[in-house]
Amino acid sequence: MIPAAFSYESPRTLKEALALLESNPNAKLLAGGHSLLPAMKLRLATPPALIDLGRIPDLNYIRDTGDHLAIGALTPHAAVASSELLHRMSPLLAEAADSIGDVQVRNRGTIGGSLAQAHPNADYPAAILALDAEIVTLSRTGEHVIPAREFFTGMFTTALSANEIITEVRVPKTTGAGAAYKKFAHPASGYAVVGVATVVRKHGNAIESAAIGITGVSGTPYRATAVENALRGKPASAIADASRRAADGIEAIGDTFASPGYRRHLAMVFTRRALETALARARAK
Ligand SMILES: Cc1cc2nc3c(=O)[nH]c(=O)nc-3n(C[C@H](O)[C@H](O)[C@H](O)COP(=O)(O)OP(=O)(O)OC[C@H]3O[C@@H](n4cnc5c(N)ncnc54)[C@H](O)[C@@H]3O)c2cc1C
Repeated sequence: MIPAAFSYESPRTLKEALALLESNPNAKLLAGGHSLLPAMKLRLATPPALIDLGRIPDLNYIRDTGDHLAIGALTPHAAVASSELLHRMSPLLAEAADSIGDVQVRNRGTIGGSLAQAHPNADYPAAILALDAEIVTLSRTGEHVIPAREFFTGMFTTALSANEIITEVRVPKTTGAGAAYKKFAHPASGYAVVGVATVVRKHGNAIESAAIGITGVSGTPYRATAVENALRGKPASAIADASRRAADGIEAIGDTFASPGYRRHLAMVFTRRALETALARARAK
């Protein structure tokens, strides 16, 4: 439980952090430390240097920028969960954040760290996908905006390159739509064995559109497009049948806690529950 030796850097600006990354290609950025430090203590990660982002000002915020909400990369899960702005204009991310781990994890862990970690059972990815959010990064070559659907590339892997820092997450406003996050939480860690996030828009009595992001079922979070397509223009009564397609075409993962078959079953059940709740929260046009 003692990490291998490493050097520690504490830059005061993003420019300084980028220069340090450039000169230490094997260094790791440190945010809340709630994924990286346990991995280092188990020697699953042995970075020679840590670049602590914690002293860089202005990376912890939630702002209304007009057409979307902007969340700084160092914003802790607890601030996302309790944000009045998010609750009013885009509540899905707040609901997902509120379900992460326990109070300590929510106070230390950050949205940028969670997305960069890309844990297959993390909660944010489902919501980020359902919202079609954008991940903003900075490298020595400038700013880069990565759509959520291009960000997660595999288990613990993302579209980020080694010299890139996540600076912000941009979330569309979902006023009028109904949103819900439902998860089957692992009883020990709180991670999502399966988690389903959805944003539903209603037209009269029909479902105009449903966006569904799923985490925990496969190594990479995904959009349940088969369910989305089956629901377009359909009444609420179509939800139960459409939800059976929640893991269509997906290779499910298994471990000692949940087999691939069980995960596929959970995906169907939690997709139905998330859709029913989101629809009940949606306002009809
Ligand atoms: C007991 C426990 C229970 C947990 N339960 C849950 C849960 O239920 N649901 C859930 O989703 N998560 C859970 N977590 C994980 C938690 O949310 C972590 O905080 C999160 O995954 C990582 O965020 P962090 O800020 O701590 O990142 P760190 O641990 O500091 O970093 C993680 C990785 O991201 C990189 N990184 C960090 N910031 C940036 C950045 N701005 N740009 C680029 N790369 C960056 C680091 O270099 C590192 O590789 C749990 C963790 C613990 C310890």
